[in-house]
Amino acid sequence: MAAGVRRIVPLTLGWEDLPKSVSVEGASGEQILREPVPGVLLLCDGGWLLLDTGFNVALITDPALHTRFFPSPVEQPVLPGPGEPLAEALAAAGVDLADIHAVAVSHLHYDHAGGLKHFAGRVPVHLQRAELDYGLSSPPGPEENGIFRVDFDDPRIDWRLADGDVEIAPGVTAVLTAGHTPGHQSFVVRLNESAGGGGFVFAFDAADLTENIEQEVAVGGRIGAGPEVSVEQIRKLKRIAADRGYRLVPGHDPDAWPALTAQLAAGRARG
Ligand SMILES: [Zn+2]
Repeated sequence: MAAGVRRIVPLTLGWEDLPKSVSVEGASGEQILREPVPGVLLLCDGGWLLLDTGFNVALITDPALHTRFFPSPVEQPVLPGPGEPLAEALAAAGVDLADIHAVAVSHLHYDHAGGLKHFAGRVPVHLQRAELDYGLSSPPGPEENGIFRVDFDDPRIDWRLADGDVEIAPGVTAVLTAGHTPGHQSFVVRLNESAGGGGFVFAFDAADLTENIEQEVAVGGRIGAGPEVSVEQIRKLKRIAADRGYRLVPGHDPDAWPALTAQLAAGRARG
């Protein structure tokens, strides 16, 4: 049996208020949801791997930068505490930033790539090549679509760029699920027998909410892709999860994410 992930710790790196129509195609633009900002710590052979990095706090707390980057009154980031959310979440998990050996980001949106500054010049960073190509493409497209170049245009970042599905650590496979963004990737995580076996498929923004998965309805936020592309990626992830008997986890569900976090924390407490 190949090695798998030995520990899995979901992180909540903040929240964001946004219209439901951003998460669900055709949903109300009047209904505002407060969605969690996800990260996942995975203890692999070789050390801790972090999936997604949350906000770039400076863009939120500096008034002038906030005005530039978050002009919409109905789409606002919500910080979980006074400091760096990633540092606070890692401290709560008992993991030091220096113990993270590699990072992977699902895509370059500000609520996923904002913490890359902590890792530039330190550890490998896994991303799809198509995502970085789009992120570095001519303004103003990326910034208008929530992809802020300051988060990732750093010559010190040790990119490991993929062109499709690839195993990035023992037991962790990145799966290209483009549509929400041009190079979005989701992650398939196989747990070691010592961690209970089985596994998870982390959709991230290929499926924001449980209803994207259960009703096979597209995410509302897409860059250069129609709703049918998003639906096809949701079906692809459902097939992977069903074939392996893994649980498919949406990226921003206000109920499913806290429930998973509590369940895994309880499992550790028992184990
Ligand atoms: Zn996104």
